[in-house]
Amino acid sequence: CGIVGYIGHREAYPIVINGLKRLEYRGYDSAGVAIYNGTELKICKTKGKVSDLEELINEKFDTSGSVAIGHTRWATHGVPNDVNSHPHYSNSGDLVIIHNGIIENYESIKKELITRGYTFESDTDTEVLVNLIEEVLKQEKNLKLGKAVQIALNQVVGAYAIAVFDKKKPNEIIAAKLGSPLAIGVGENEFFIASDASPFLEFTKNAIYLEDEELAIIRLGKEIKVRKIKDDSLV
Ligand code: GLU
Repeated sequence: CGIVGYIGHREAYPIVINGLKRLEYRGYDSAGVAIYNGTELKICKTKGKVSDLEELINEKFDTSGSVAIGHTRWATHGVPNDVNSHPHYSNSGDLVIIHNGIIENYESIKKELITRGYTFESDTDTEVLVNLIEEVLKQEKNLKLGKAVQIALNQVVGAYAIAVFDKKKPNEIIAAKLGSPLAIGVGENEFFIASDASPFLEFTKNAIYLEDEELAIIRLGKEIKVRKIKDDSLV
């Protein structure tokens, strides 16, 4: 399983799809990408290989956009199928997430979210996490995305490398890690996120490896901010 993300000035899709191919050695059963083109957030995902995803995209997708995240899944919660594949999006459709790892307490969080009116398409723990972030954002107006992800992660037991994008805040991606690897490539007003540095080595040698329990606020035009997830003086 692997994750790749890009935000910057280039076409994001080729970087992400090639990055996913470089991470294929990690093993997976499904693959998917989300691409943001300035107005629309498009998601394409499928059970199978990265080459299956590529074929599907070539058939029917306009891949333009300078933000994208991609994922190869090793199913832990929910069988390998198209719906359970990542990226997963929130009920509003604004938030999208890729996740490697396991949210152990997802069932109790899911029950709570259902009582608040949330619905779920997939059987994954990941779809619960993205909706938990949405609920945190809903409860406190003007909360920054980084802070909302931090609050959500403090309610979660498990392991993760995640990248979260909000189409309402399209110049940033939030990344966080506990247990699964996560590297950030820093270029000239562009950033790369990946399970290891191989997807972005041809673009930049400047890499930050997140430590466990760290969250990174990756914002265009800004220095990356790295914070401890448990430290609530964040952002
Ligand atoms: N637990 C998540 C799922 O089953 C992520 C699995 C992974 O690491 O790829 O969808």
